Amino acid sequence: MTVAGDLTELTEDQRAIVDAVREFVEQEVFPVAEDLEHRDEYPDKIVEQLKEMGLFGLTIPEEHGGAGMDLMTYALVVTELSRGWMSLSGIMNTHFMGAYLLKKHGTDEQKGRFLPKMATGEVRAALSMSEPGAGSDVQAIKCRAIRDGDDYVVDGTKMWVTNGLRSGLVFLLAKTDPEASPPHKGISLLVVEKEPGAERFEGITVPPNIPKMGYKGVETTELVFEQHRVRAANLLGGEEGRGFHQVMDGIEVGRVNVAARAVGLATRAFEEAIAYSQQREAFGKPIARHQAIQFMLADMGTKLEAAKLMLLHAARKKSAGERSDLEAGMAKLFCTEACHQIVTDALRVHGGYGYSAEYTIERLYRDAPFLLIGEGTSEIQKMVVGRQLLERHKVPK
Ligand SMILES: Cc1cc2nc3c(=O)[nH]c(=O)nc-3n(C[C@H](O)[C@H](O)[C@H](O)COP(=O)(O)OP(=O)(O)OC[C@H]3O[C@@H](n4cnc5c(N)ncnc54)[C@H](O)[C@@H]3O)c2cc1C
Repeated sequence: MTVAGDLTELTEDQRAIVDAVREFVEQEVFPVAEDLEHRDEYPDKIVEQLKEMGLFGLTIPEEHGGAGMDLMTYALVVTELSRGWMSLSGIMNTHFMGAYLLKKHGTDEQKGRFLPKMATGEVRAALSMSEPGAGSDVQAIKCRAIRDGDDYVVDGTKMWVTNGLRSGLVFLLAKTDPEASPPHKGISLLVVEKEPGAERFEGITVPPNIPKMGYKGVETTELVFEQHRVRAANLLGGEEGRGFHQVMDGIEVGRVNVAARAVGLATRAFEEAIAYSQQREAFGKPIARHQAIQFMLADMGTKLEAAKLMLLHAARKKSAGERSDLEAGMAKLFCTEACHQIVTDALRVHGGYGYSAEYTIERLYRDAPFLLIGEGTSEIQKMVVGRQLLERHKVPK
């Protein structure tokens, strides 16, 4: 079953990339994903292969050494990777968001300095907004970056930094004016350069990987900043107070990305369930011949098809540079909730074996809940969607 590419018109180049990733995932990821996941092991070899395929530079403009592809292509690549192992899209996503932020909001000097290294995957990026006391409420962050001569001095603790250890660049959200009112006016994005893999580096400490329920293999860490100095030249876009707006723009593409992961994960769950249901027999016939199972498959297939269409609609709009906060929010909400339901149903179809770590579905079942949380929880999506609907359908008084 193709993931989502069959529902949209693709150029020859796009089709070639998506097909190549699909083949790669089936040959190189399917056989090892379970083992790596259970050992919580970083997939070094696969990351090298992703680099060779040019995937870290997929959306980086050609003038900076990338492939210059659009968000639609990226979304389809993410669905294919997540069909194999969702953690691979975790390794790519913060890097991709960093590249997007630079491309859209960086100065020419910043683009020239960072994008070529990012395009090869030689340097990979993390994106750090969340803190121990602030997740959904982004404006409540406490991390400070105070100007001192030609530098900013950063102090604070960040939480849940995916790729926190191995990244060489961290797109860091911090308060350059902690007293600003409203608070978002005092928030900026800094590009922090650090030594990949180092637990201590010039005032940055990376505590041990946070043990997680799923989404294993890729590390998620805290980052502790103590008097870490960042050059003022690394202030994204060169203007203070733009960070909140920049990161909200980046989050829209992040939401399309999470919707794409959900479609990839749900596709795999559906494939596992429909195959198992035809092999397993109960009461003298394959369980697929029991109507209760068929109804479950019907619900799963229908939700999956709807999720793909919502993902493609949101990706198309954002790719075309159109405003898409509503579409990205709806796609993130629908696709991730649908994925969670599809994975749960797929586990039921597997009966007791679904609970066994021998079966792929057990991993998918532990991965799926993260999608309800990352890049804004379902409740936050409903707030975004509700607000946008009211704005777009205003009744004159
Ligand atoms: C594995 C993992 C990886 C992550 N990676 C990153 C990363 O790379 N970079 C990064 O910056 N962050 C990352 N995060 C953090 C993630 O973005 C946050 O967990 C998420 O935004 C939710 O924030 P929180 O955990 O503080 O929950 P809270 O904001 O405390 O929310 C708790 C509950 O309250 C609800 N809630 C909050 N506000 C409202 C409201 N106004 N109305 C109704 N309900 C509300 C939420 O929906 C949720 O159900 C990661 C998280 C995880 C688990």
